[in-house]
Amino acid sequence: MTDTPTRRVALVTGSSRGLGRAMALKLAADGFDVAVHYGRNADEAAKVADEVRAHGVSAGEFGADLSTPANAGTLVEEVIAQMGRLDVLVNNAGITRDGLAIRMKDEDWDAVIQTNLSSAFVACRAAIKHMMRARSGRIVNIASVVGISGNPGQANYVASKAGLIGLTRALAKEYGGRGITVNAVAPGFIQSDMTAELGDDVQKGYLSSIPLGRFGQPNEVAAVVAFLASDAAGYVTGQTIGVDGGLHPS
Ligand code: NAP
Repeated sequence: MTDTPTRRVALVTGSSRGLGRAMALKLAADGFDVAVHYGRNADEAAKVADEVRAHGVSAGEFGADLSTPANAGTLVEEVIAQMGRLDVLVNNAGITRDGLAIRMKDEDWDAVIQTNLSSAFVACRAAIKHMMRARSGRIVNIASVVGISGNPGQANYVASKAGLIGLTRALAKEYGGRGITVNAVAPGFIQSDMTAELGDDVQKGYLSSIPLGRFGQPNEVAAVVAFLASDAAGYVTGQTIGVDGGLHPS
């Protein structure tokens, strides 16, 4: 008699493009059904969902504006209702609103904290309630190397990413006993729409400080996320894993 393989469902926020898209496709390749989430780019999300399905797994498409944290809770509930379960939550959606702190507008501070940190917290809270009943679950929060090192001109973004690392540690301790692991991934400079917005001089400056001498690719971050979601990472929790080509915070 053969065991029926258990379906597992992963939600990746902000998987319409960039790093999130690569994570969705890697998790699909690893056999997860994937909830593809988007903010504004429904058409791109639909394409990613088709690419997910090409791996022979199911995909759902979910729109939610995560600049309003309550929407993150609704998103998780909709995914569970439509896809039947939630085994892996990847909080990846994120934005920047860069500027020197003394000139930073309240709305730019709030937008980044709410989108990157508060929505991730609300998504974790909703997911953990479900995962506690299942007595298992995986949460991966996408932080950044600058959340450890700091970076001028990004007080809001750095605070949001440092907050995610602290949130990760707290939740790992709170829910480890319920079979839920919570980890963070801290990418360095990865080629995406977000980093394409940086000027040439800034890009050259980063490149000269990366020991591996190149920028990272989205699939190199996705590989670490997939490891943390896998059975192989069952004893890893509360960690922040850098994927930064050696661009170590100091
Ligand atoms: P990106 O290309 O700009 O993509 C951002 C994603 O987040 C998109 O899917 C976007 O959805 C979604 N998103 C943004 N605002 C949203 C909102 N208000 N509501 C819902 N979804 C929203 O970014 P990326 O470079 O792939 O970065 C992904 C994550 O990695 C971010 O958390 C970022 O901070 C982190 N990270 C990136 C780097 C890097 O070098 N790229 C380095 C360190 C950390 P729509 O397009 O559908 O609106």
